[in-house]
Amino acid sequence: MSQHVIETPGQPVAPVRGSSATFPVRRIYCIGRNYAAHAVEMGHDPDREPPFFFQKNPDNIDFSGEFPYPPMSTDVHHEIELVIALGRGGAYITIEDALDHVWGYGVGLDMTRRDLQGEAKKLGRPWEIGKAFERSAPMTPLIPASEIGHPTQGAITLKVNGQLRQAGDLNQMIWKTQEMIAYLSAHFSLAAGDLIMSGTPSGVGPVQRGDVLVGHIEGVDTLNVRVV
Ligand code: MN
Repeated sequence: MSQHVIETPGQPVAPVRGSSATFPVRRIYCIGRNYAAHAVEMGHDPDREPPFFFQKNPDNIDFSGEFPYPPMSTDVHHEIELVIALGRGGAYITIEDALDHVWGYGVGLDMTRRDLQGEAKKLGRPWEIGKAFERSAPMTPLIPASEIGHPTQGAITLKVNGQLRQAGDLNQMIWKTQEMIAYLSAHFSLAAGDLIMSGTPSGVGPVQRGDVLVGHIEGVDTLNVRVV
């Protein structure tokens, strides 16, 4: 066996609810504007246009229950999202077969440096600086689809300090889980360990240090995160 010439932090992994085994994370794809009401609040047309994706880094996932307010921003927003975890990959996966590739689900936050994302949008630059920073993807442990099935409807909500900020229903997703998988797999080779963050309902807004965020997706799980 060959040895690496340097040491690295290693493979990012997600815990699995009810298990001591972990889920190794390979890539994180995130869809933009997947709920019409959120597209409208961000100043866009809610009509079904082709989906678009950006990525977070695999090591941006965080399960500590704490979100450290990141540097270089004064406008960090919450985006509550259903996380889809792939157990099998492939290319040109059909919509009909797509759900067979899903291992499980979780509840996640696509934390966003909105000021930096806004500048990047204005200048036609990539979004990583606003989206793919350290600990920008707090999430719950993953839950196998064998336990909860494939959630296609149910409330998705986020409360900040007890006040309801985001509310929607999974059935409002413009691009469904199987459609996102099919689309992504035509552009990239998907693989076991890939996560998809499936977009956020309307009501995104800023967080402050000390805020307590409680995200919930009916039939999936509840995510508790404190901004520190
Ligand atoms: Mn998002």
